Amino acid sequence: MTRPATARIALNRPLRRLFDYLIPDHLELTPGQRVEVPFGRQTLTGLVVETGVQPPAGITLKPVRNILETWPALPEHTFRLLTWASDYYQHPLGECLFTALPPALRKGRPAREKPDERWQTVTAEAALPANAHRQVALFNTIKTAPGITSSALAQSGFSRAQIRNLQQKELITEVTTQQTPPITPEAELPAPMLSEAQQQAAADFPVDTQSFSATLLYGITGSGKTELYLHYLKTHLKADEQALVLVPEINLTPQTLARFRRYFGNRIQVWHSALNDGERLSTWLKIRNGDPVILIGTRSAVLLPFNHLRTIIVDEEHDSSYKQGEGFRYSGRDVAVYRAHLNQCPVILGSATPSLESWHNANQGKYTLIRLEQRAGGATLPQLELLDIRSRPLEAGLSRPALNAIKETLAKGEQALVFVNRRGFAPVVMCFDCGYLEECPRCDTRLTFHRRDRAMRCHHCDFQMAASHTCPKCQSENFKPVGQGTERTEDTLAEQFPEVPVIRVDRDSTQRKGSIQAILKKVNSGEPCILVGTQMLAKGHDFPNVTLVIAVNADGGLFSVDFRAPEQMIQTLLQVSGRAGRGDKPGKVLIQTCHSDHPLLNALCHGNYATIADQLLAERESGQLPPFRAMAILRAEADTMQNSLQLLDTLKPMATSPGVEIWGPLPAVIARKADRHRAQLVLITDNRKHLNRLLTHLCQYLDQTKLPGSTRWMVDVDPQET
Ligand code: ADP
Ligand code: ZN
Ligand code: ZN
Repeated sequence: MTRPATARIALNRPLRRLFDYLIPDHLELTPGQRVEVPFGRQTLTGLVVETGVQPPAGITLKPVRNILETWPALPEHTFRLLTWASDYYQHPLGECLFTALPPALRKGRPAREKPDERWQTVTAEAALPANAHRQVALFNTIKTAPGITSSALAQSGFSRAQIRNLQQKELITEVTTQQTPPITPEAELPAPMLSEAQQQAAADFPVDTQSFSATLLYGITGSGKTELYLHYLKTHLKADEQALVLVPEINLTPQTLARFRRYFGNRIQVWHSALNDGERLSTWLKIRNGDPVILIGTRSAVLLPFNHLRTIIVDEEHDSSYKQGEGFRYSGRDVAVYRAHLNQCPVILGSATPSLESWHNANQGKYTLIRLEQRAGGATLPQLELLDIRSRPLEAGLSRPALNAIKETLAKGEQALVFVNRRGFAPVVMCFDCGYLEECPRCDTRLTFHRRDRAMRCHHCDFQMAASHTCPKCQSENFKPVGQGTERTEDTLAEQFPEVPVIRVDRDSTQRKGSIQAILKKVNSGEPCILVGTQMLAKGHDFPNVTLVIAVNADGGLFSVDFRAPEQMIQTLLQVSGRAGRGDKPGKVLIQTCHSDHPLLNALCHGNYATIADQLLAERESGQLPPFRAMAILRAEADTMQNSLQLLDTLKPMATSPGVEIWGPLPAVIARKADRHRAQLVLITDNRKHLNRLLTHLCQYLDQTKLPGSTRWMVDVDPQET
């Protein structure tokens, strides 16, 4: 045989297996290429994984129906990256590979842009019935704007059918010359002079774009990190090279984009969830073609088939939105580092509050650390103060001194920001009079409050007890879950300050396209107002007239059972604080707490993030938690908690092996969601390879096991929430 006659194909299915087909004589296949294959009665789009495979004996293979293009949609590097990610995150290869295709190509559409048709009129006057108002209006629109596109007409309210109708009547015709603007490699704007601190930082950036290096840029909020990225790309990226700038979901603000466009013109392309299928395909093709694109994109952009990628930047690298929370649970940041390694190019991770993972890597010398600890343009960092709320009456979570501070701020014509912590709001019960928190008598951890059965449970062992109504230490009745009552914070503020707008910023209020822009516009007008919101407020915005920040319930984050919660709380507090005092007025931050002697909170007020990160890392090390050991969670959900726990109980003995610590199985912190009962089994080990093999084995077992009814399971490697 001169060439392989069989191919192994991946399908976009949640199946941990591939499918073998015969290659008909007239077809040539290479890995990464799109094909059409018969599957049952359907024809599906597949991706070639390998050719020349030995199919299992005794099976008659069906032939591949067709190829969709002659070239591989996923070039070698991208293909290898996804194969690695599939194995690392234990997610079916087919679904991983298909993540790198735009929706149109997943559905088997051709890999070329559907040109937007342009129209012109053929006759001077249209012989149309007088009552065909829309037809006449359409004809006149095209007549006054020859060359107008179908999409522009659609935006003016004309349908495709109406356009076709005029075309069939031979009143209009398509303009055939197609001009898409070429990507211009150079832009116009002169860059601002870097400050001295920035120049020093810039000097430490990697010079060599042809080999792997990882750099952690630790630069306080407003220190000019973005300016440095721009400077770096301008200096080091060659005119024919591609770069990727990853940003968290919400950071893709028009301002950021405009800044990049000013430097690089239409070399800048974007990738985020609000693009339509056509836009995605168009950008995907440019990337696949190797056009010298600088792509600014969210998480999934890291999986795209770049052909000539020479620099990766991950902005706000600590941000939790880099981790996909369902399905293929990859971390965009971690995949970016692996990709740079595979590609032999630099990766730069930037943040004012680096993740402990990256901080640890910098400490170990795996990443080069660059520090930038002055704000650019002369702005000062805000002052942080603790506000002890023990024994103080709260109104919807807010203390009197906090309300007074808001009042003063508004009276000065300035803006206040009220931050309510929701995330990491793993329910701990605390005494608001003495600060007492209930701990597990067997472990050194706090107990979690489970609202449904009013039980207190340990997250590590199986200890549980009924929740008390009064504080076991001081008998106060002010003994309740942290965060309770904050749902009403917004209402209370609106009642107390009826004369100013109270603007809510959270996932719900920013979901609609353009809503965040509307909010920003209102805030940037500078008029006095109160912003109330969640983590969303922490993300990269500039609010020059915000001079006061109140953190309502910091304790919920500090004392959560989730070991990552303190890190996230500190990061969020610093990021939120970083929104204040960006203009020429200094800012103040008040943190409400029942634990004003807590070392972390004190470090936050008097030290810097670097010290806190070291402190948090020391705690992780003594607990032998990530990043000092690797972690994975097996999650189960079912109609009853018993079924979920039972499944994990079966897995536990299989997972038990030397060097692997196991927590659980236990009900998840949010034990019931949409009537599904959720439980988890946590595996921790210092041998990542062993963990990977163990998970592969468990997945294989689960795949071959018939589970009762609606029981589902999933694996989460390097989980962000425990
Ligand atoms: P970061 O990304 O660290 O938050 P930015 O790059 O957005 O910081 O810079 C913060 C602010 O300072 C921006 O308004 C930016 O335009 C300004 N800035 C940054 N570098 C300089 C500089 N060298 N000269 C003048 N202004 C600067
Ligand atoms: Zn315990
Ligand atoms: Zn008490």
